[in-house]
Amino acid sequence: MSDTTGSSTRPYDQLLESLRQADVLRSVTGLLSWDQETMLPRRGTELRAEQVAMLSSMVHERQTNPRVGEWLSASEEDEELTSDAAIAANLREIRRNYERAVLLPPALVRELAQTTTLAVQAWREARERSDFPAFAPWLERIVRLSRSQAECYGGTTGDSLYDALMEGFEPGARSAEVRVVFDELRGQLTPLIRAAAESGRRPDDRLHTMRIPIERQVRFNAMVAAQIGFDMDAGRLDTSTHPFCSGIGYGDTRLTTRYREDGFPDALSSTLHEGGHGLYEQGLPKAAYPGQPLSEDASLGIHESQSRLWENMVGRSAAFWEWLLPVASRELTRELDTVSVEEAYAAMNRVEPGLIRVESDEATYNLHIMLRFDLERSLLAGDLSIADLPEAWNARMREDLGVEVPDDRRGVLQDVHWSSGLIGYFPTYTLGNLYAAQFWAAIGTEIRGLDEQVARGEFSMLLEWLRENVHRHGRRYRAGELCERITGAPLSAAPFVRYLAAKLEPVYGRP
Ligand code: ZN
Repeated sequence: MSDTTGSSTRPYDQLLESLRQADVLRSVTGLLSWDQETMLPRRGTELRAEQVAMLSSMVHERQTNPRVGEWLSASEEDEELTSDAAIAANLREIRRNYERAVLLPPALVRELAQTTTLAVQAWREARERSDFPAFAPWLERIVRLSRSQAECYGGTTGDSLYDALMEGFEPGARSAEVRVVFDELRGQLTPLIRAAAESGRRPDDRLHTMRIPIERQVRFNAMVAAQIGFDMDAGRLDTSTHPFCSGIGYGDTRLTTRYREDGFPDALSSTLHEGGHGLYEQGLPKAAYPGQPLSEDASLGIHESQSRLWENMVGRSAAFWEWLLPVASRELTRELDTVSVEEAYAAMNRVEPGLIRVESDEATYNLHIMLRFDLERSLLAGDLSIADLPEAWNARMREDLGVEVPDDRRGVLQDVHWSSGLIGYFPTYTLGNLYAAQFWAAIGTEIRGLDEQVARGEFSMLLEWLRENVHRHGRRYRAGELCERITGAPLSAAPFVRYLAAKLEPVYGRP
């Protein structure tokens, strides 16, 4: 980069170059956490915590460099820049990120990074032994650090603390509004779940019990990811205990899934889910706007809408199984010849309250999220103590889902989020389900013959639509605005409830 020409020393160019450098550094922490989930030996955790803490501090230092503030202010006064809508959006988000970053003391950034890296390992061991008391002191520290973080962002008490953290995952979202949407959703889900239970029908679940060698499933899942459009030259699919997608940076998006011999539909669902995240990452304009908000996801809710759309709207549709069954029969097991599309559809859409969020169906899933949303708000506000958390969890599972939690491993210890310091993150999952359904309804009116395409294993028009309407915009629009632009309406629970009722009718009858 030359410093001698006038244009390259514009404050805006210097600002962008500093963002690019901070992002290269940040991408290294992304790689380190991918490695921690897939490869890292247990005894490497201490060093990893040091590495992550040091890098996080370096990223933070670059983000909060006073020169960044100066370049930013100068750019905001440059009308040539602000009259360009895309650049104005970029500046709006750079300002937001900068304001948030400077509010955090470097020592807190470092302590959070170090503590959460160690806490993930502590959580993993506690979960294996179902030993909540072993994890409790870690959670105590994380809640305390998260509260300090929220206070730095301007939170004071109750939901204002929670909102300050949620802002980091879902810009612009407020818990009071989320609660309204969730309450509406809960009221409409309950009769659907009850109707499924009372219908007396129970889908044939041979699909979920067939034994298929894992090597075959590995090849098959890679084929499916590529078929929906995931670029394997710009990404990978590996195995981890908890499936995830890590958008490390331009040209490098990593997915993981997990396999069980008698659980090929679950591995497939995870691959489609993470694949949906991966397609979004690969579709963001990262080459054009390196390290800039214009190349970032709009929000985690929008990110999740992309994963749920492929996992559920596509992957649990009859059309998808019309394509998949003959292919799977060739690649996995001939036993699949005995399963009809209707049976596969029913097996993929069974509704059954269970203990584990990530294994739950589309109807009960959101109840798992609402439970976490309420409990973490109480933890942060100080209304619920860590010691009382397991019992509060179990009581809610009993009330909301009618299931008894036999041990903390299948209860309060099941999710990695809190150990990673992700408080305020859970609601984005349900927001994602709602965005996905609302987008799906728009897609249904805009792409003619989509079902027929999916039944032939053709996904390019769908992907093209998502690229055009969602991916290419990055963070130009906030999630709510993006939703209005795409669907002509603000986010609501109604499209999701309509989608679900229509989907379940062939399996359980009319509620
Ligand atoms: Zn996801």
